[in-house]
Amino acid sequence: MVKKAAKKAVSAVEAIYGANVFSLKIMKGYLSKKAYDSLSKTINDGGALNPDIADEVAKAMKDWAVSKGATHFCHWFQPLTGSTAEKHDSFISPDGKDGVVMEFSAKELIQGEPDASSFPSGGLRATFEARGYTAWDPTSPAFIKEGEDGTTLCIPTVFCGYHGEALDKKTPLLRSIAALAKQVERTGKLFGVKPSCAAYATLGPEQEYFLIDKAFYQQRLDLIQTGRTLFGCKPARHQQMEDHYFGSIKPRIMAFMEDLDQALWKIGMPSKTRHNEVAPAQFEIAPIFERLNLAVDHNLICMELMRQIADQHGLVCLLHEKPFAGVNGSGKHNNWSIVGTDGKNWLHPGNNPHENAKFLFVLCAVIKAVDEYADLLRAAVASPGNDHRLGANEAPPAIISVFLGDQLSDIIDQIEKGEPKSAKTGGQIKIGVDVLPILPRDATDRNRTSPFAFTGNKFEFRAVGSNMSPAGANIVLNTIVAEALDQMCSQLEADAKAKKPFNASLQALLQTIVKKHKRVIFNGDNYTEEWHAEAEKRGLPNLKTTPEALKSLATEKAAKVFEKHAVLSRKELASRYEIYMHNYTSVLTYEAACARRIAATQILPAAIEYQGLLATTVKTAAEVGAKAGVAQETLLEVSGLIDALSKGIKAIDATLEGDDGLEMKAAMEQTREAADALEMIVPADLWPLPSYAQMLFLY
Ligand code: ADP
Ligand code: MG
Repeated sequence: MVKKAAKKAVSAVEAIYGANVFSLKIMKGYLSKKAYDSLSKTINDGGALNPDIADEVAKAMKDWAVSKGATHFCHWFQPLTGSTAEKHDSFISPDGKDGVVMEFSAKELIQGEPDASSFPSGGLRATFEARGYTAWDPTSPAFIKEGEDGTTLCIPTVFCGYHGEALDKKTPLLRSIAALAKQVERTGKLFGVKPSCAAYATLGPEQEYFLIDKAFYQQRLDLIQTGRTLFGCKPARHQQMEDHYFGSIKPRIMAFMEDLDQALWKIGMPSKTRHNEVAPAQFEIAPIFERLNLAVDHNLICMELMRQIADQHGLVCLLHEKPFAGVNGSGKHNNWSIVGTDGKNWLHPGNNPHENAKFLFVLCAVIKAVDEYADLLRAAVASPGNDHRLGANEAPPAIISVFLGDQLSDIIDQIEKGEPKSAKTGGQIKIGVDVLPILPRDATDRNRTSPFAFTGNKFEFRAVGSNMSPAGANIVLNTIVAEALDQMCSQLEADAKAKKPFNASLQALLQTIVKKHKRVIFNGDNYTEEWHAEAEKRGLPNLKTTPEALKSLATEKAAKVFEKHAVLSRKELASRYEIYMHNYTSVLTYEAACARRIAATQILPAAIEYQGLLATTVKTAAEVGAKAGVAQETLLEVSGLIDALSKGIKAIDATLEGDDGLEMKAAMEQTREAADALEMIVPADLWPLPSYAQMLFLY
């Protein structure tokens, strides 16, 4: 009786969690001990799959997948288009007796050869060697994707060219994680850490998104084609009441969120938080952080599931960074940290002098990295969509600065002065000798305007766009922190050789770093004019648009740091610059073309119809000798706006021939201004597009 009661109840969540992942837990039941041990070592420490066990792993994976109803497998990869790609093959193989057997070989598991000539390669592949190869990344487990009638085994893979050139985002991400781990391991040695595991980075991405009713979406060519509204005047009420943020969740949205959580839990993504965001119809989902590589894969799968599940609920999930002008846009807060060789978070201020010293060392490495490579971080979040958001006083500005909070800044000040006396804390801080005062988490997370904030035990890079793969930002982050640690370790190693006492050389090193890089620290309001002026004085870059920001990828400085840490070769980096620039112009061009189409074929006809109605009214009134002053006035106003709209359309036409992004943007704005003004006066029943108020409030 007692025994029975004590037996732990398994909740519905525990029962489904990870049910669709070929995880270590599930593998154990399918693999021999030898194969299991070898594979789990590969998964935990990275590295290549042991070929001796490949056949066994493939068979186990297939048996498991088939037991889950899978008929197909696919290599799932992340080309430079920004989304994910997959090519499906069924498991069937003729059995020679008019039937089939389900088969899956080690070769099929390990390497795929999609005909990938249509993916962007930025000149990395000549057409004669257009093939791309996919190769399994064992550090990210295979998972099952459920369809309406059957399921597919998805194998996360890297995507490379014939000579191993990275054609995707996963390859450089894995390389950057390895580069960072290498320097973290060196750091550990210097600080006398007894290694118990390989170092790695962690990520917890907070994902913002909008949900609107599908019926409205279907009537908006701009949303269908570009993911954002190109027209629409701000509704009377939008977010000024601030009543949506953390408000109670409407049942229809809740149903979506519940289905999403179930789907995410099944594939082993630890979805944790869900809530309403600042703008109406805007929401957020956040998982518990995981190993960086896996967290990126999970975020990409999450975005895909959000779109699919919204559709099942008659909703559309908008992941664009700025779907509605004048209303808050969506970002992806990139919570990042480092787990060291002792399995502990090294951005957690420790509780003994030794751990504090290591914490300050890593903290200073991040500060140095962000200051020296702010331009690369900015480039990593540059996209046409994010251009609408960064600097719009709802998201961090394009100026990259670091927020530390008062207490930590005070400690940094003490380090700079080299006189370890802290006014705010009252204590004495001598690196490696004293403990830091406890930094309450609350005190560190108040400033939501900072692009790069220390939030107690991690850094939160807030400039990432909602629609982006988190890979880009983290490739840069890992690489530049690896570089900073590399330089700092070299200094300490040289000092050790010269028999300098460790704590003294550490104190001197950190003092030099703080002196040189404290300009990047800013705890104030990042939205103010004063900060923008101050940042300019401090010499911090302010790269406002995507083309400006992307230029930093084409510099010798960028090539050197990526090459040194074997993250991207010069050719690979150049290809990315080319692809992202091309992407920018393509997006601008199709947005302009779409705006032109809507303006000419939907808005202009509606306005002309109203103009006709007004003209008839004025004419009829005159005929019967009545006064129609207001109709006359409105007619003039509408006619003026019609002219302005038509001019805007012609301006777009003129820019579509060239490829000057700024001109295109200006022409679109000119057109929009006239269209939005017309929306304010044309009768609602004549207006061809669902309004902002309908889309944002009716769901
Ligand atoms: P908020 O930033 O809204 O206050 P939290 O700080 O609790 O919320 O968490 C935000 C995200 O940061 C979550 O996804 C969480 O898992 C993640 N996070 C927390 N600790 C770490 C860490 N050490 N490394 C990476 N991400 C982390
Ligand atoms: Mg946060």
